[in-house]
Amino acid sequence: MSKIYETYSPEETFELGKSFGEKAAKGEIFTLNGDLGTGKTVFTQGFAKGLGINEPVSSPTFTIIQEYEEGRLPFYHFDVYRIGDPEEMDELGYEDYFFGEGVCLIEWADIIGELIPDYAKRVTIEKNLEKGFDYRRITIEEG
Ligand code: ADP
Ligand code: MG
Repeated sequence: MSKIYETYSPEETFELGKSFGEKAAKGEIFTLNGDLGTGKTVFTQGFAKGLGINEPVSSPTFTIIQEYEEGRLPFYHFDVYRIGDPEEMDELGYEDYFFGEGVCLIEWADIIGELIPDYAKRVTIEKNLEKGFDYRRITIEEG
């Protein structure tokens, strides 16, 4: 099942992420794909808020993963932009997160596409400048 959402501001994307964070369940994996600056981190910030996380969330580009424990479920935020080889994910012990007690959200997940389980929920964010600078088309495919 695939749904398309359209947002016209970062706040709307945040709210959409928040609504998914509120419904998220243990063991779920969300992938986020879309060019730099489309709003993957904005969506993630809303998602974290929906899980009840109040501390600031930013892209863990250099650390690859950031864990948050203060919400309703453990939250594992990945940004795999700097992963050169999926083997680096093994070194991080990614399976403990993917198949663990919390919820994973992975920015730039296509880079490690071969490691993503079939049941992941796939979020794709696209711009369309004809519809305005702040317009985003957000497709969410749930397995
Ligand atoms: P990414 O993580 O995909 O690289 P960010 O979430 O860090 O992108 O940045 C998205 C940028 O786009 C922010 O500066 C945000 O304010 C801006 N923006 C403008 N319109 C939107 C929108 N509709 N949804 C999300 N972000 C938007
Ligand atoms: Mg980001």
